[in-house]
Amino acid sequence: MPELPEVETTRRGLAPHLEGATIIGVVIRNPRLRWPIPDNLPELLSGQTVISLKRRAKYLLLDCGSVHVRNATPDNEIHHARSPLPNPDGTTSHSTKLPKYGSQVAGYLPYTGEGANESLREFHVNGTLILHLGMSGSLRILAQATPPVPAGGMSGVSPQLRCDPPAIHDHFDLLLDNGKLMRLRDPRRFGAVLWHEGDVHAHPLLAHLGPEPLEDYLGSFDARYLYRATRGRNVAIKTLIMNNHIVVGVGNIYACEALFSAGISPLLRAGKLSLARCDKLVTAIRTTLSAAILAGGSTLRDFVNTSGNPGYFQQQHWVYARAGEPCRCCGAPIKQIKQGQRSSFYCGNCQKE
Ligand SMILES: [Zn+2]
Repeated sequence: MPELPEVETTRRGLAPHLEGATIIGVVIRNPRLRWPIPDNLPELLSGQTVISLKRRAKYLLLDCGSVHVRNATPDNEIHHARSPLPNPDGTTSHSTKLPKYGSQVAGYLPYTGEGANESLREFHVNGTLILHLGMSGSLRILAQATPPVPAGGMSGVSPQLRCDPPAIHDHFDLLLDNGKLMRLRDPRRFGAVLWHEGDVHAHPLLAHLGPEPLEDYLGSFDARYLYRATRGRNVAIKTLIMNNHIVVGVGNIYACEALFSAGISPLLRAGKLSLARCDKLVTAIRTTLSAAILAGGSTLRDFVNTSGNPGYFQQQHWVYARAGEPCRCCGAPIKQIKQGQRSSFYCGNCQKE
């Protein structure tokens, strides 16, 4: 499963190919990911310029902006996808009617400058394409097979003509005006491609996330924060640091490795963690994730023009997946237990409760 370091490495690998490019087409081969890909995405994204590719937790956020000129008549209404998450009854809302031209909502600002008149107006549309790799997703940059793009976009051109032949699990392509395309491959289809207008951090998937472990961003993840977050908590410390509401992006591998590095047993009740050990654990989480991102830097070329899966990082682990093998510090056999449906690996000698 792609963890935060893989997602951040993906972001760094893709950003130079995407930022500043204009989207000229969208290919949806299979919309049935974790949530359906909005069916009006091609019309929403075509003509949008990619402003930046950012990351929040394990979500990649493709910030887009564009100016649309449309004929405004009294009956004009446009449909925009907004947060196409499943409703509680299992159905999905694909689109919501936005107010008629002239009214103002977030991400949808009528142009009132020079040239604006009663019948023709410009609309600045700002939105974010939210991408998640799920359990098995990967994103790659490929060359389009048949540039340049015909005027009016690629919508009439068959997918086989406009890009390298897609494989069975290649569900989604973003075609760019620089002759490249970004392709999502996701065999297990737990990934997501969603569209949100306005402040993306208010999106239901992002609004309740804890702070980033590596950046002081939307709250800072430090010893005092972790100390406060653990008071009165009876849950095991490993379970707590894997909770996205406490801190984002600490997956099973990195939780195991960081706890070993900090000398803390995964079984320790969170509420018993001292401030000094909180400091050790925060440092260990940051160091472990940073080292993985650094290691991933050498695989950046794998995001471009490869035909296969870029693969997730194969790293030397201290404890993860080493059950029964000798601890690299003391030689004692590494233990494996189950905590909240996940396997925990630790050294009973080096890691204390
Ligand atoms: Zn040991």
